[in-house]
Formats: sequence, structure tokens, C-alpha cells
Amino acid sequence: MLQRRQFYIDGAWVDPAESCDLPVIDPSTEEEVAVISLGQQADTDRAVAAARAAFDDWAARPIAERIGHLEALLEAYEARADAMAEAISLEMGAPIDLARGSQQPAGTGHIQAAIAAAKEFEPVRPLGPHAPTDRILMDPIGVVGMITPWNWPMNQVTLKVAYAAAVGCTMVLKPSEIAPLSSIVFAECVETAGWPRGVFNMVNGDGAGVGTQLSVHPDVDMVSFTGSTRAGIAITKAAADTLKRVSLELGGKGANLIFADADERAVRRGTRSVFNNTGQSCNAPTRMLVERSIYDDAVEIARQTAEETRVASGHEPGRHIGPVVSQQQWDKVQGLIQQGLDEGARLVAGGLGRPEGLNRGYYVRPTVFADVTNDMTIAREEIFGPVLSIIPFETEEDAVRIANDTEYGLTNYVQSSDAARRVRLAKRLRSGMVEMNGRSRAQGSPFGGMKASGNGREGGVWGLDEFCEVKAVSGWPEDIAAE
Ligand code: NAD
Repeated sequence: MLQRRQFYIDGAWVDPAESCDLPVIDPSTEEEVAVISLGQQADTDRAVAAARAAFDDWAARPIAERIGHLEALLEAYEARADAMAEAISLEMGAPIDLARGSQQPAGTGHIQAAIAAAKEFEPVRPLGPHAPTDRILMDPIGVVGMITPWNWPMNQVTLKVAYAAAVGCTMVLKPSEIAPLSSIVFAECVETAGWPRGVFNMVNGDGAGVGTQLSVHPDVDMVSFTGSTRAGIAITKAAADTLKRVSLELGGKGANLIFADADERAVRRGTRSVFNNTGQSCNAPTRMLVERSIYDDAVEIARQTAEETRVASGHEPGRHIGPVVSQQQWDKVQGLIQQGLDEGARLVAGGLGRPEGLNRGYYVRPTVFADVTNDMTIAREEIFGPVLSIIPFETEEDAVRIANDTEYGLTNYVQSSDAARRVRLAKRLRSGMVEMNGRSRAQGSPFGGMKASGNGREGGVWGLDEFCEVKAVSGWPEDIAAE
């Protein structure tokens, strides 16, 4: 069993102040594969103090120098690509080919994009031609507490660390206690990259412990959080007394509006996208809204797609889906499937229990419900498993109303060959992102939500501004333009 009890603080691997072991379970086998420590107040304080001590020097360096450190990180991260993919697959059950092909590369993409955005970043900006001696300074906000989930571990960690570091923040990362191994590999990459001590610190721990300690800490200037809406609310309340900025990337219940004039692959693509990563993506299009005239065909295609989706161990190569992350998650998904049945949705594929032949591991049957109404629990709650709900609609107006009738607002999807309609819908859908006709958003596009999906924007120029204070200065010498 792997022993991974140490934390990375002030440029060194250190023992926890007190021992508090937590096993890491492989979701594919239900076996304990590693042990970590849950940090205590003394560990959090030590990490925050290191980040605070490093801040002035890091923030004062020219941005080109910090970009150099990000380039070194990118090189170290790429050199450890195999170890990273294996850690992710082991800790959260992603099939190894998904870990190698999507999970690990998501981190590469974000570090590259942060470097590109940082090269264009203007820390000193003119207010406008009417005010020649006014400037807007984009100051790093300070010490950032970063709290991340288990479902796309490196995607979330790199979106925070690379962008915060680029603008001059220092940080303490608390990764998910369920999936801590990838962040340990990441901290080793930072160490290899030779970042100045204290800029990046990592303490393992749970939400009630290190998560809350960071949220209330007087020396933490901002908490950048990705995870459930429940925890986002708790963090916001905990952070209120110190008035720190709280940036939230939370859950979702995306609608996928499929019109009769959509391309023929739309239903299959949408269904696959729900099952990808075993349904554990905040932006999964889990409510498929289908125009009535193609509804029966769509249900049939979704059924076939579910039947064709193979479920197997994360350790096996191939394009199957793996288990969900934990017993708790498995129980939650089963409970929601049961609720779907109880509330009268029509089960067309999958259902309760494990897929045949998989008796150990947190495996779920790829499940499709048809005739779902938007007031059913399976249409309202984020399931975070391979479960699709299909809802018929009559008109465009109807589709918009159903799509927006949710507490969430992360990503919505539109499938239609009518360009004017797509523009109308892009404007009317209440979500931070709208993706149309299977085109994913390009590098540099901001990721984030509205309503209960949060208030943060990560990636691109927005991802840099996220970690800045806006400082307005007057009386700036006209002949000094930039840094
Ligand atoms: P979670 O909220 O249970 O945990 C996320 C992190 O928060 C973990 O590190 C956990 O230890 C910590 N935490 C939990 N309670 C806390 C508290 N009271 N105070 C401080 N920290 C606390 O979420 P999860 O189960 O790990 O992840 C799944 C959730 O994340 C889903 O809801 C998903 O939609 C969401 N998510 C959102 C995005 C996005 O960008 N919008 C991306 C990925 C995942």
C-alpha cells in the first residue's frame, strides 16, 4: 500500500503535525490502495504562513519570470504524464485510457492556456483617452485557498494553480480527500519545476477540517472552490466573517435541446456525453429535451447507446466507462434511480444494481429514463452517475422554459440546423455556457456558471482577472506606460 502521509509546505515534504490516517480506496476493486493524512489546524496554519511569507516577493516579480516558472511546471507535468494518469485512474476509477487521453491532458491544456493568457496580460491598464493620468492596476489578490473535487482532479487543480500563480498569488491547495494521489504527483511537479518556496503549498484534509480552516482563515484572502453546491454554500458562510472573496464553481443539471432539424448524430452524441467519466461531470447534459416529432426515435437511439456502453474496471484499457467514485456515490445514484422509478419515469435502459458480472467495485448500469417531467427528482437533482433523463417538448418556447426551470445554470446545449434559432437560444438560456451542435468551447473560453452553479469564471483572460484586485490609480505619470 502506498504511504502518502506528507504535505508539501514551504518547498519541502513535511510530516503532519498529528497523525490522522485516511485510506484511499480504488473504486474499481473497493480495495485500500494508499493512505494519506488528514491535516489539522497546525498544518493549515503552517501552509498559510508559508504562502503569506512568499507573497510579497512572488507578486513583485515581473510576469515574464512567473511565466518561466509555469513553463518549467508544464515540462515537469508532461514528464510525469504516465504517473499522473495512473494516479487519477487509481483514485477515482477513470478508465486508464480516459485518464491518459482526457483527464491528464486537461491539465496540460490549462497550463498551456494560462501561459498564453499571461503573455497577453496587462497588469497596468489605461482607463481611457479621457483620463491620461489614470491607470487600472490588476493586483494579485494575495494568498488563495484552493479546494477541489475528485471528478476531474487535474482539470480543476491546474485551472486554479496556473492562473493564480501567473498573476502573482501564492496558494494552499486542499484537494479532495477521496482523490488526493494526483495532487501529490502535481506537487512533485511543482517541486521539480523549482518554484520559489512557499508559492505553492498542498495540505490534504477533509472539508470539515482543512477545508473549513482555509475558509475562515484570517490570512487567506480568497477561496477558490470547485465542488458541490452544498459545500459552496457552507464555504461562503464560513468565509463571511473575514470578508474574503469566494469564487465558486458548483454543480449543474445541463439541458440538451434537440430540435427535429438537428444533425442525425445529436442524440447519440448527447447520450455518450452524459455517460463519459461515468456521468461525473458538472457540465454533463443530463436533461435531454427532445422535440416531440423525433421523440420516439431519440428514445430508441439513447436506449441503444446505453446498451452499447460497456462498463469495466478502470485498470482495463479501452473506451468503456469505469465505476463511480465511492460507495457513498453509488448509494446516492441508486437512490435517485429508485426515485425515478417511484415518480413514474419510464426506464428504457439500465436501472438498479450493478451491471452483470461486476460484483465488486462501484459499478452502475448506464441508465436512460424517458417520459421524464421537469418536476421529477431525477430532472432536478444532480445525479453524478451515468443516468440520462429524456423530456419531450412541443415548441421552442416550451424548450426554453423547461431548460431554464432549474436551480442550476452551468452549461446548456442546443442541437439545431437553424442558425437564427441557435442565436435566439444562446441569448435566452440562463447558463454560464452554451454549446451548440457538438462544438466544444475553444481554449481561452471562460468556464463558469450562474445561479446555483456558482459565480466564478476560470480560464482565459477571465481566469487571470479572477485572482486579481482592481486598483484605480490617479496621477500616474503619463510617460510610464506599463510595469
Ligand atoms: P464536494 O463539495 O463534496 O467536495 C469538494 C471539495 O470540497 C473537497 O475537497 C471537499 O473536501 C471540500 N469540502 C466539502 N465540504 C466542505 C466544507 N464544508 N468546507 C470546505 N470544504 C469542503 O464535491 P465532490 O463530491 O468532491 O465533487 C462533485 C461536485 O463538484 C459536483 O457537484 C460537481 O458538479 C461539482 N463540480 C463542479 C465543477 C465546476 O467547475 N462547476 C467542476 C467539477 C465538479
